[in-house]
Amino acid sequence: MPTISKEDYIKAIYQLESYPDKSVSTTDVANKLEVSKAATSEMVQRLSEQGFLNYEKYRGMSLTEDGKRTALHVIRRHRIWELFLVDVLGLTWSEVHAEAEILEHSTSDFLIERLDKYLRHPKFDPHGEPIPDKYGNLPELPDWVSLPKCEVGKSYRLVKVTDSSKELMDYFTEIGLSLNKVVMIVSRLSYDNSTIIQVGNDSFNISEKIASNLFFIEDV
Ligand SMILES: [Zn+2]
Repeated sequence: MPTISKEDYIKAIYQLESYPDKSVSTTDVANKLEVSKAATSEMVQRLSEQGFLNYEKYRGMSLTEDGKRTALHVIRRHRIWELFLVDVLGLTWSEVHAEAEILEHSTSDFLIERLDKYLRHPKFDPHGEPIPDKYGNLPELPDWVSLPKCEVGKSYRLVKVTDSSKELMDYFTEIGLSLNKVVMIVSRLSYDNSTIIQVGNDSFNISEKIASNLFFIEDV
């Protein structure tokens, strides 16, 4: 297990903050990074002293402008590396996340800007996640919906997957999913809110938990 750095904490808080109406607690951060609450509390204290976040004991935390800028900077490095590893080195979309988790901390701005230029200033990584530009601006995002919210009887195009689990990414590959793949929503079981989708000639029952990692736009 690689060591969890200050940048990992800032990135995790940024990602947790992006859920609407959700204040971020020490427990949320500890769970996301799979570290102890004690270690997290200590880091939160330090980050707050260094001006990266505001923390109030019973209200949770939020990143300052400095914190957000740092998070977007790490995310940019991560996503540019993922794209490079897939497009140039031919790695699969399941393989690149773990590598990018390491490279995102050790790459100079100089090298990232060279990679960005080489890749012709890409806007999305191999999982459909937006790449912030060097000023921290995100490209305009499509109006994606997660699979549990896709309507039965309609066709949708896959535009984004959550990439944090290699096992899950391998499963998506196994059932024939890739970015821009069009699938048909066959039915939804009210019993557990799982969704049956058709990919090519095959149908698969996707649990709600797995389905929440897939994002689509309607294919018209
Ligand atoms: Zn990733």
